[in-house]
Amino acid sequence: MRLEILQGDITTRDVDAIVNAANSSLMGGGGVDGAIHRAAGPELLAACREVRKEYPGGLPVGRAVATPGFNLPSRWVIHTVGPNRHAGQTDPGLLASCFRESLAVAESLGARSVAFPAISAGIYGWDAREVATVAFDVVRNFGADGSPALELVEFVLFSPEMTTVFRDVSG
Ligand code: ADP
Repeated sequence: MRLEILQGDITTRDVDAIVNAANSSLMGGGGVDGAIHRAAGPELLAACREVRKEYPGGLPVGRAVATPGFNLPSRWVIHTVGPNRHAGQTDPGLLASCFRESLAVAESLGARSVAFPAISAGIYGWDAREVATVAFDVVRNFGADGSPALELVEFVLFSPEMTTVFRDVSG
């Protein structure tokens, strides 16, 4: 499995699946979530409403679900709910679960390439370095455990600063 770190807008990535740092309502929000909904078009919100029927109380933190990507270049969007540090969700295990579950969903879809944003490193207030550390730990373990289907995992970072942190942490 190849691992790449890029700076840019995740909504432009032509990969099989992009991961959305959603909130548990799945009804869209700010940051990358808003950008993904705008780029995918209104059908994405309708698809999220359908998913919500299975999770009336909202998608729990650390879980991941897939919808189609609609107008996006990517075939699927995998929505995961990162822990919100401002709400006292400080357990790195929850963040690790976001990455792990998203990879598992990608694999179950037969995706060969997947792109991640810096989950929880924006509005949810986590330290960028901590997010990057957890992200690489999970993705490398997932790759080491043998995931023949998944060939490429990208981290697509919006700012030069975040890109530098991810490059630093990746060693
Ligand atoms: P969270 O609520 O999980 O913290 P945010 O969307 O606020 O999610 O931020 C997560 C990261 O996504 C931040 O580093 C933010 O700068 C970044 N981001 C925002 N828009 C995009 C985009 N279009 N592509 C990639 N990353 C983005």
